[in-house]
Amino acid sequence: MKKHNFNAGPSILPQFTLENTAKAILDLDGIGLSILEISHRSKEFQAVIDEAVALFKELLDIPEGYSVLFLGGGASLQFAMVPYNFLNTRAAYLNTGEWASKAIKEAKNFGEVEVVASSQDKNFNYIPKGFVIPKNADYFHFTTNNTIFGTEIRKDPDSPVPLISDMSSDIFSRPVDVSKYALIYGGAQKNLAPAGVTFVIIRNDMVGKVQRSVPTMLKYQTHIDKGSMFNTPPCVNIYAALQTLKWLRASGGVKAMEKKNLEKAGMLYDEIERNKFFVTTIPDPADRSIMNVCFVMKEEYKELEPVFQQFASSRGMVGIKGHRSVGGFRASLYNALPAESVKALIAAMQEFERTN
Ligand SMILES: *Cc1c(COP(=O)(O)O)cnc(C)c1O
Repeated sequence: MKKHNFNAGPSILPQFTLENTAKAILDLDGIGLSILEISHRSKEFQAVIDEAVALFKELLDIPEGYSVLFLGGGASLQFAMVPYNFLNTRAAYLNTGEWASKAIKEAKNFGEVEVVASSQDKNFNYIPKGFVIPKNADYFHFTTNNTIFGTEIRKDPDSPVPLISDMSSDIFSRPVDVSKYALIYGGAQKNLAPAGVTFVIIRNDMVGKVQRSVPTMLKYQTHIDKGSMFNTPPCVNIYAALQTLKWLRASGGVKAMEKKNLEKAGMLYDEIERNKFFVTTIPDPADRSIMNVCFVMKEEYKELEPVFQQFASSRGMVGIKGHRSVGGFRASLYNALPAESVKALIAAMQEFERTN
């Protein structure tokens, strides 16, 4: 049976990425060696990383003066690297979910943290509005898409101080005005590549301002200077990322992705609202994520949640169980998920409504 992969992360990747990476693991471009067994200093790998950086810049329309880095440690290491490198006295953070909270916790190791607003009072089911970013902060940090709770900020905000964002779970899902940001980072395993590589887009003039001494591996300057090759980078993950970037370009780029993602999420939210059993956990349509659609069964049907879970998995749906902090269901609709999978989930919801 065909599986419909709604996993939140690691998650679905384009077939193009899987096939080309599988081929390169056996033989990279006919050189008689695997991508797994060549030097990261070889001309073959240099070509891979150069093309990945160039495509990253092309697809996101990254202006001059920025570097694209491929690092290890996941988005979670960026939670610490960002304040390590930029927090002199105080930083401002927006708390919209579990990942944002973790970033805040790490920043507190390095200085004063001002949480400008939080949606924790309602289990992160909305995006706080009308907050003020203090002008005396070293930077302002926020999470564009809240993978766990299903809210998303799809507008690039204006900020009087350097703007830093965790885009782990919605990078390449829409056009981004990179010029507004000082730094954008994310783990690749949601929308780009297998787990093990972290992307960082950094404005080069951000480095060298912090007063503390930072270990070499944790300094952005190190990785900018060495083109992500200060030490051995996660080579095969970068190869896989390159394949996804090629697929993105061939599929029309981030504008086309946004259109497709809006359609996919739109039809699923419509069905959740129409279906008598289900209700979305995010009341304001403007705050709803187009990447991670969270929904539960209405109070009076709560006991049917495990029944629907079973029903859906018997029809090939994988990964729709909600995160333990929300319960119910979460369908992750990343770029590589075809509209047919969303239609299959909707069909299962409709059949469940008819037969229960
Ligand atoms: C998954 C995720 C993370 C954690 O990423 P790791 O690479 O596992 O450290 C951080 N932020 C967001 C928004 C995520 O979705």
